[in-house]
Amino acid sequence: MHEMGIVSGILESVTAVARNAGASRICKVNLRIGDMREVVPEAMALAWEVLCEEDPLTDGCELATEDVHPESVCNACGTVFSHDRFHLRCPVCGSADTRLVHGRELDIVSIEVEHPD
Ligand SMILES: [Zn+2]
Repeated sequence: MHEMGIVSGILESVTAVARNAGASRICKVNLRIGDMREVVPEAMALAWEVLCEEDPLTDGCELATEDVHPESVCNACGTVFSHDRFHLRCPVCGSADTRLVHGRELDIVSIEVEHPD
């Protein structure tokens, strides 16, 4: 389950940022995840729950994710097209020489924190 690794990496980043900012708790983390990452939402949610409990800073922290659909550009004819995880060929000229421009995102968009009184 590679979601554990993804979540632990994200938590490492956000807890470092929150601690530096003097936050007492992280309430919510907003992520943007590309479909090409092949993240299973249920596994992601489970990994999130398990790993957040380990640190008082993230205990009960909410996760919000936004999916990014894959988009590629055709190197042969220059067409930019959206596609799913399995159809990477150019729909215009049929070329397989394409380059992914979106869909591998794993970005922390923002975090919401609480400060001690
Ligand atoms: Zn093409």
